[in-house]
Amino acid sequence: MTFRALNHAHIAMEETKPLARPCAKCRAQEATLDSRSQAVCSDCFAKFISTKCIKQIAILGKETRVPGHGPPPPNTAATGDTTSARRYLVGLSLGVSSSVLLQLLNENIEFQLARGRNAPFELTIVHVDASSSLSLGSQQQQSDNAAEEILSKYRQRYPRFDFRCIPLSAALSLQTIDWTALTPLTLPDSHPSKSPAGRLSELFDNLPSAASRTDTLRLFIRHILISTSRLERCQALLLGHSTTALAELTLSETAKGRGFSLPWQINDGALPVVNYSSSIKTNSPEVPAATAAAAAETVLIYHPLQDVLRKELTTYATLTSPPLTALISDLQDKTIATSSSAVVSHKDLSIEEVMFRYFAEVEENYPSVVANVARTTGKLLRLDGTAGGENTTTWCGMCSMPLDEQGDKRWRGELGEEEKTTTTANGTAATGGRLCYGCERTTLG
Ligand SMILES: [Zn+2]
Ligand SMILES: [Zn+2]
Repeated sequence: MTFRALNHAHIAMEETKPLARPCAKCRAQEATLDSRSQAVCSDCFAKFISTKCIKQIAILGKETRVPGHGPPPPNTAATGDTTSARRYLVGLSLGVSSSVLLQLLNENIEFQLARGRNAPFELTIVHVDASSSLSLGSQQQQSDNAAEEILSKYRQRYPRFDFRCIPLSAALSLQTIDWTALTPLTLPDSHPSKSPAGRLSELFDNLPSAASRTDTLRLFIRHILISTSRLERCQALLLGHSTTALAELTLSETAKGRGFSLPWQINDGALPVVNYSSSIKTNSPEVPAATAAAAAETVLIYHPLQDVLRKELTTYATLTSPPLTALISDLQDKTIATSSSAVVSHKDLSIEEVMFRYFAEVEENYPSVVANVARTTGKLLRLDGTAGGENTTTWCGMCSMPLDEQGDKRWRGELGEEEKTTTTANGTAATGGRLCYGCERTTLG
C-alpha cells in the first residue's frame, strides 16, 4: 500500500468513526450540550436559538410595513427619505439577553445580505444609563464613562448599527409620565437650578423603599425606550426579555398589585402611549387628561426572545465567534446588579431580586414551569374598555397601564390594606393625576 492510499484509508476511518454521543438533531457531530432534554452539537443549538428569534422577527415583519411600500403618509413624499427597510429600536441593557438579541439580529442581516437581498431592517440601539445618575459619591466619575466605554466595544463589533447612550435623568422631561401624580416625590426641596441628575437622585431618595427604587428604575427605563422609539420614528421597540425574564416580571408585578396590567406588559403588540403635555392637561380631577389622548397613539413592543430561557442565552453567548462573553462579562445581570448595589440599600431585597434568584433555580430544575408561567400570562386578554366601542379607560400616570378600579380594590383587599387617601408627608392632599395601586404603593409607600 502506498503512503497515499494509506492516508486515504486513514481519512476514511476518521469519517466513519462512530461518534461517542451523536447530536440528536444532525447526527453528524458530537453532542456537547443538553438542550431541552436532547443532546445536541453547538451548531444545532445556535441554530435552535436563532430560529426562535427570527420566527418572532418574521411575525413582527408582517405587522410593520416597509416605508415607501403602500400609500405614503402625507408630507413625506418630498423629504427625499430613501430608507427602504423597517426601522426598529432595541433596548440594550448591556446584559446577556439584550446582547444576544443584538447578535442574532446582526446575523440575520448578514445572512440576507450574503444572499444579495436588502437588509430586512435597520436598528437603533439605545442604552439607558442609570449608573451615571444614581451611583453615589466617588464612584460617580468612574461610572459616568463606564457605559460609554462598553458601548464603544459594541460599536466596534456592530458598526452598521446606530448606538445611543441616554442618561436616566432624561425621564424627567418626558411627557408620557404624569408628573402631577408624582408631586409628593418631586415637590419637596425640588430646585429648578439643580441638574437633571441631581433632581433624579433626589426623587429616588424620596422613594419609600428599595423595592420602590427598583420598580421606578424599570418604569423610567421603559418610558425612555418607548419615547425614543417614537422620536426616532421606529416601527417597533424590541426588548430582550427571555421566557425567564417574562415569568419573573409576571410574578413580581402580580405581587406588587399590577396583575391587571400583565397583558400589556408581557404580550407583544401595540401599547397605547399616553401624553400628558400641558396642552391637554385639565384641572378637573373628574376628567383625566389621559383618557382623551390615550387611544390616539400607540407603540409596537416585541419580545423576540420570549421563547428562549435565560440559561440558553447565557450558553449562546459563549458560542458566538468571538464569544459575546468578552463584551458582557463585567456587566452580567446588570439590571439586578444596578438595583441591588447602586440604587437600593443592601438591607432589603427587592421583589425583582427575589424572583431573579428563585427563577435561576427553577430554570435549572424545572424549565417547563418557567415557560408555563409566561405562556399562561400570554393568554390573558387586554381589557381596556375599548371593546364596546367607547374608550372609557383611564391610564396610570406612572406605568401607563390601564386603571382598573375594581381590580385595585381587590388587590388592596387581598394584600390586607385599607384604601388610603393620597396625602403627602406634610399633610396636603395630592390632587394630581391618577396612579394604579402598584404605582401608588411604589411612590407613597
Ligand atoms: Zn447537530
Ligand atoms: Zn401604575
